[in-house]
Amino acid sequence: MGDCDALIIGAGLGGLTSAALLAQQGVRVVVLEKNQRLGGYGVSYYSHGHRFDIATQALGGCGEKGIVRQILSRLSLLDQVKFLACEPARVYYFTDSGKPFIQSGFLKKQWYRLVGEFPEYKNEIKTCYDIFARLFAELKAIAGFSGDPVFGFAGNFPDLARYSRFTVREFFTQLGLPLPLQIRIAARAEYCLLPLDRLSLVGFACTEMSYGDGAWMVSGGVGKLVKALSCYIKEQGGRIIPETRVRRLLLENGRVNGVETAEGKRLTAQDIVLAGDGRDILSGRERNLIVLPVNTTN
Ligand SMILES: Cc1cc2nc3c(=O)[nH]c(=O)nc-3n(C[C@H](O)[C@H](O)[C@H](O)COP(=O)(O)OP(=O)(O)OC[C@H]3O[C@@H](n4cnc5c(N)ncnc54)[C@H](O)[C@@H]3O)c2cc1C
Repeated sequence: MGDCDALIIGAGLGGLTSAALLAQQGVRVVVLEKNQRLGGYGVSYYSHGHRFDIATQALGGCGEKGIVRQILSRLSLLDQVKFLACEPARVYYFTDSGKPFIQSGFLKKQWYRLVGEFPEYKNEIKTCYDIFARLFAELKAIAGFSGDPVFGFAGNFPDLARYSRFTVREFFTQLGLPLPLQIRIAARAEYCLLPLDRLSLVGFACTEMSYGDGAWMVSGGVGKLVKALSCYIKEQGGRIIPETRVRRLLLENGRVNGVETAEGKRLTAQDIVLAGDGRDILSGRERNLIVLPVNTTN
């Protein structure tokens, strides 16, 4: 292992995407992955001639103007990955009702369907999705924010400041939504693998809003996306090193300047991107770490 410009910890879809975008800019990237297999939760599995995307399966942001499509287009990978629209997105059988709940892949349709089933809560449903939309817009705007992070934050991001500590359950309760309606609005909370009273409202709202232009599957399995990104990184001169777990971050005056692997090897870099659940390696003293959002809890 030698020095590099950017070290990415974790070869999930987040880490691979950031590594590919950096490599395209001529940044010398090294991706460290603790598992033998790349992709994190982006994994396809084959059995008896059938393919299963066992975690990430329905993607948002793959429509004409979607973020996933934009990134693939920027990397000239669009011809390698084809998307299939899922409509309806899913059908749920909840025990409180004899009929199935058909979830649309498109937010607007989903909204009309909920209002059709719970007409007396039309205003509350509208308020709920309005707040989801504002949280999503504010979260996206953070990337371009150059104001004072302490004194400018609440003024520029009022809804994030107000709702950042809310769980989905607290928010629904404050809106006065009945339990059957809560369950249906939050059907996608299962992606986050947390109960509503532990799931962050901001995390869930952004998950939900990312399906504004439909739910999509990758033709041939989500593993194709992983393969396209990892090949691209290598073609651009980047390195992906599997079976290499980062044990701790190396700090110098509060700045992260490298990592130590489980085998005791040290690797330094100018920038470090933490793209895996780093709870076991963070000390809380890091000042310059870029952390990709993996965890949707508070
Ligand atoms: C069951 C399930 C179903 C889901 N369904 C959907 C869905 O349908 N649609 C959707 O959009 N999302 C879905 N998600 C969420 C989606 O899978 C995640 O948001 C996404 O995969 C996160 O990607 P990531 O790269 O941020 O993290 P991960 O996929 O978690 O990747 C992190 C990587 O970092 C590695 N790593 C961690 N720690 C270290 C370390 N110390 N050193 C080296 N490597 C390390 C891990 O091994 C892993 O490969 C689902 C999640 C689950 C669990």
